Amino acid sequence: MSSITIIGGGLAGCEAAYQLSKRGCEVSLYEMRPNLLTPAHKTGMLAEIVCSNSLGSENINERITASGILKEELELSDSLILSCAKESRVPAGGALAVDREKFSGLVTQRIESCANIHIIREEYTHLPEELAIISSGPLTSDSLAEAMKEIAGERIYFYDAVAPVIMRESIDMSKVFVSGRYGRGDDYINCPMNKEEYLRFHDALVHAERNLPHDFERDKYFEGCMPVEAIAERGTNTLRFGPMKPRGLIDPKTNREPYAAVQLRQDNFYGTIYNLVGFQTGLKLPEQKRVFSMIPGLENAEFVRLGVMHRNTSVNAPAVLDEWLRLKERKNIFLAGQITGVEGYMESTAMGLAAGINASMILEGKDLISWPRDSAVGSLIHYLMTTEPSHFQPMNINLGLFPELVNVRGKKERAKIHRDIAIESLKAFLNAL
Ligand SMILES: Cc1cc2nc3c(=O)[nH]c(=O)nc-3n(C[C@H](O)[C@H](O)[C@H](O)COP(=O)(O)OP(=O)(O)OC[C@H]3O[C@@H](n4cnc5c(N)ncnc54)[C@H](O)[C@@H]3O)c2cc1C
Repeated sequence: MSSITIIGGGLAGCEAAYQLSKRGCEVSLYEMRPNLLTPAHKTGMLAEIVCSNSLGSENINERITASGILKEELELSDSLILSCAKESRVPAGGALAVDREKFSGLVTQRIESCANIHIIREEYTHLPEELAIISSGPLTSDSLAEAMKEIAGERIYFYDAVAPVIMRESIDMSKVFVSGRYGRGDDYINCPMNKEEYLRFHDALVHAERNLPHDFERDKYFEGCMPVEAIAERGTNTLRFGPMKPRGLIDPKTNREPYAAVQLRQDNFYGTIYNLVGFQTGLKLPEQKRVFSMIPGLENAEFVRLGVMHRNTSVNAPAVLDEWLRLKERKNIFLAGQITGVEGYMESTAMGLAAGINASMILEGKDLISWPRDSAVGSLIHYLMTTEPSHFQPMNINLGLFPELVNVRGKKERAKIHRDIAIESLKAFLNAL
């Protein structure tokens, strides 16, 4: 075999294509947009990100997180997606957030400039017979998803929801305050609520009209991306311990924490649009405007994008994938990205990196390689391989996936040790490559 087909030019597909290209392989990259859009993608750009513009936290000095470790590993591995994200970053405290247009523009440009990547703007509708990577994402087109049923067996469906985005100039700045939590930076606009305002808002949210019935596949929401109305429905105070948590936010007007607060985070490079952090929603569109305009400061907010609900497609990884992310029943097909059963932008990218490098091994006639178990990428793959299939749930990177450490107390200390081991292991692995 001398070339490979990649289906889906999202985060994972572009990462895989880049890794293959730089190893001298010929790639045919199929992307169905802009001819056929998904319910969430709006453009024809490669690696379009469709919801939050945050790619999660970064390791800064002593503040080590699993998401930060994963980013360090991607950087060491020369990840295209991470480098474009860093070039298009916008301020977001300890997180890596991007100007989404600049980010996808950069990825598109870099992929288009690789002479050995041929971009084909078509929907791929069947199972490939040739060496291929399927990275068609959570919104895989219906015909390909149908074809995959044949070999992927039970697919998992669950539902995610996107948060609305508003124009900054439409925020009434006299009612809000700018500050990070615990005074860290000034990357967030906070909309404070008193108890009365909160209870009124909560009631409106719970009773607002939804696109889907209240009990519709409730257990199929992914906990990390639960619609705000579904969180509210769990109890009067659940929002105050979730997306409306006031902890560490001191309102300069009262010098106290408010009863509850909605946080807005910059969504583009110029700081002209902001998203409602944690407010992914499946409410009917006019209802979103009505209810979210009750938030102090957002009475006249101009919504540039409203939230939507979407189906999420991914396989039951431990049942159908081998340790190199190939389908057990069709060894010529790798999966990459969210469809493997990981969740999140960086996690999907990492699965693109792993599948891309291993596919290049096949093209070069070399043995497949296994990622070090104690790295973040290796820990994600380990999770995909070893979870009991009947309990399998899509997963973000977290410290719980790393190998257990004995006799280490304290989260900070554990995170630091995991980080040091992971980075050392990955460096050795990359050197051996
Ligand atoms: C609405 C929504 C909101 C989300 N919110 C977040 C969030 O806030 N934070 C987060 O970390 N993650 C979020 N995710 C998950 C996010 O999509 C993934 O983390 C990441 O984009 C997945 O990367 P991927 O490369 O696997 O898929 P994608 O980035 O979706 O790329 C898949 C690509 O394949 C193309 N495609 C599909 N079928 C075909 C076909 N048959 N032929 C050719 N091309 C095809 C699509 O057009 C798309 O470009 C969200 C997902 C969705 C759908």
